[in-house]
Amino acid sequence: MIIKDVQVHYRNIPLLVPFKTALRQANEIDSIEVEITLDNGIKGTGAAAPTVVITGDSTESIMSVAAGPVKEALSGHDLRDFQGALKKVQRCCTGNTSAKAAADIALYDAYSKWLNIPLYAYLGGQKNLRTSMTIGVDTPEKMAWDAEKSVESGFHLLKIKVGTYPEIDLERIEAVRRAVPPDVKLRLDANQAWEPKQAVQILQELEKKDFGIEFVEQPVRADDWEGLKFVTERTKLPVMADESLFSAKDALKLIAGRFADLINIKLMKCGGISEAWKIADIAEANGVKCMVGSMMEPSLSVAAAAHFAAAHPNVAYMDLDAPLWLSEEPDHLTYDGEDVLLSDQPGIGIVQPV
Ligand code: MG
Repeated sequence: MIIKDVQVHYRNIPLLVPFKTALRQANEIDSIEVEITLDNGIKGTGAAAPTVVITGDSTESIMSVAAGPVKEALSGHDLRDFQGALKKVQRCCTGNTSAKAAADIALYDAYSKWLNIPLYAYLGGQKNLRTSMTIGVDTPEKMAWDAEKSVESGFHLLKIKVGTYPEIDLERIEAVRRAVPPDVKLRLDANQAWEPKQAVQILQELEKKDFGIEFVEQPVRADDWEGLKFVTERTKLPVMADESLFSAKDALKLIAGRFADLINIKLMKCGGISEAWKIADIAEANGVKCMVGSMMEPSLSVAAAAHFAAAHPNVAYMDLDAPLWLSEEPDHLTYDGEDVLLSDQPGIGIVQPV
């Protein structure tokens, strides 16, 4: 069970259509894959994608950390000490959560392959996974059209990106609401674009209407925790922290100070499944529900997040549609409309075209 090699591979994957949020527009993603080989022949693979505006991690930094400190920390480690290997990844450098996530995922993949069971079975749960579909920020008409198409494809949960030109955000949300049946729930994501007072104004306006809004993600700037609390205290709509929260330490502070009602966990922000599990545990102990989301990421890392989401009892919401935006990974993670179907193969159950 000795780790004898750590390889780093790079792929570029074009998106089917551009992905637009208040923070950025993406037309393609870079996928950095970390492949761990054990001396018994088992291989574990993880992946990361850079979202520099959120994590600070670039393609170059992920590749160099994975091929440098991560490889150095893991080489020669006996994976029967699985927890020790996970810790070594987290402690090999500060920051760089995306590179750490790729290595952490690869370790979980290898370890559950050694046990010869799917990752969700190793983690201990198998709940059904129903994902939202994201509607990128655009004109109200275009967003309404995209929403209609998503509902036709079988989605009942829509995540509406807002925040570019906030003065038309109400119009956008109204247009989407009018375009879809009443049983479709809406989630909003401002990606940090609103000022606190502006957010309160918009959300209080929405409260007056029966729009079926489930929650609102990251209304204000990531580092403006006081602003986040200001908004949370002044709206009845549940507020979810996304870019404001990376680690289990953040979760402790955020929950103790009641800065938000809900937490969005992403493997690229927290450094992998080991830290994600701690965040969800801390939240569960305090009665705070979690969502598992992803950045625009390859199927492999989204599948790892899906195994975690299926297993942890405190994950109540899933936002795992990223692979449906990719042009080159049609069968790596299986969807049946809005349902994400996990493989019964050992490990994550995805074979990467490395
Ligand atoms: Mg978000």
